[in-house]
Amino acid sequence: MRVSVIGCGHLGTSHAAAMAELGHDVIGVEQDPEKCRALAAGRAPFFETGLDELLAKHTAGGRLRFSTELAAAADHAELHFVAVGTPLRPDGQGYDVDQVVGAVRSLVPLLHRPCTIVGKSTVTVGTVTRLQAIVDQLANVPGVELVWNPEFLREGHAVIDTLKPDRILAGLSSTAARKALEEVYAPILARGEAQLIITDPATAEVAKSAANACLAAKISFANAMAEVCELTGADVAEVTRVLGIDPRIGPLGMRPGIGYGGGCLPKDLAAFTHRVKELGAVRAAGLLDAVEAVNQGRLEAAVELVERAAGGTLDGVRVGLLGAAFKAGTSDVRDSPALRLADRLHLRGATVVIHDPQALPYAQRALPLAQYRETALEAAADADLLVIGTEWPEYVANPQLPSAAAIMVRRLVLVDVRTAVDPAPWSAAGWSVWQLGRPVSR
Ligand code: NAD
Repeated sequence: MRVSVIGCGHLGTSHAAAMAELGHDVIGVEQDPEKCRALAAGRAPFFETGLDELLAKHTAGGRLRFSTELAAAADHAELHFVAVGTPLRPDGQGYDVDQVVGAVRSLVPLLHRPCTIVGKSTVTVGTVTRLQAIVDQLANVPGVELVWNPEFLREGHAVIDTLKPDRILAGLSSTAARKALEEVYAPILARGEAQLIITDPATAEVAKSAANACLAAKISFANAMAEVCELTGADVAEVTRVLGIDPRIGPLGMRPGIGYGGGCLPKDLAAFTHRVKELGAVRAAGLLDAVEAVNQGRLEAAVELVERAAGGTLDGVRVGLLGAAFKAGTSDVRDSPALRLADRLHLRGATVVIHDPQALPYAQRALPLAQYRETALEAAADADLLVIGTEWPEYVANPQLPSAAAIMVRRLVLVDVRTAVDPAPWSAAGWSVWQLGRPVSR
């Protein structure tokens, strides 16, 4: 199929590359000329596991190209994915959907054949109705269909999640739209592994917001239990392990730690909470507010843990911080808990020296007041304590790191705010290991 992907950021670039991998002839439209140049040269302007390989393969093979012009998409494609950003409004009161409305408003008058617009961006319930009115008003040809197909991928796993999704959700209202959607995802549906859920647009919009709210709630539940464990001497890693064995709960997405961050969960929860309050769903709003309050509290808990591990004060303390990305597998530092922690430690008087295997340039731009090093061991050099801020495998599953880092630091103190390391090899190398929600291991 000839498809376009409009908006090539974290979501759109992975989607465009994956659509080419599925066999489609793809044009990505990105309005930022610098990003577009990098993409056309087969490089993502950010790190995402496996993405550069796919981009290089399909830009070289000719199945994937990029343009800054929407007209190029209109000329090329019979199906247009819209993957532009929906940031939180500056007042925090819901999404700014200007990019989505702007993209649809600009694209529709350029269309000169029947085609399908497939929205992937996360939007407030009611947005599709608004966009449908724009399509109805501005289309110059009959047969321009609108579908909402929210994306559930996880950053760090974006490529594999797009190629092998567990579900494809589509809110639509015509047979032609359904046919187009089934055709574009045919190679995935043929494998029989992904569930196709066809529903109305409002249900698709609410289901996406509800999914992110539910993921956030699961993390906050684990973190609320971490707080209880901290006050009782219990071990939250064991508690969540016990919970996860129950198939009604499940083990995934329940790791306690410093809380959720990134470009999606915080803003999606805030926007959904705002909408839920507007709608007057007071009990839902209370639940969502509590989820966010627990999340905010974990940053405080992490700062206090580092302070206690440092011996009671952070003033003049040198902290080696391993990790800046909001999670492992990506260079994304949007709303990164690791960087929020770095900022707070700095405010309390610490010198923070950061390493990250992929996110260094982005972190440097986001938090210039910290110092940055090219290797984990350089970040550890002369540190009074080491903090794991992102659960990269090279920190949490690297058997050499405990003894290699031990030679570099002034004190053998590790604070793991992700509750991700196995303390045993660190303790064996002489470290005391401080984790949120767990007793200290020495
Ligand atoms: P992003 O800010 O990284 O990317 C958006 C891109 O769209 C930018 O590069 C911007 O320049 C471009 N753009 C905006 N208007 C354009 C236009 N008219 N023409 C061409 N390009 C245009 O955002 P993102 O993280 O990729 O998220 C995009 C959407 O997908 C959001 O609604 C987000 O909530 C949703 N989403 C993201 C993820 C994720 O993992 N990042 C997962 C699921 C859903």
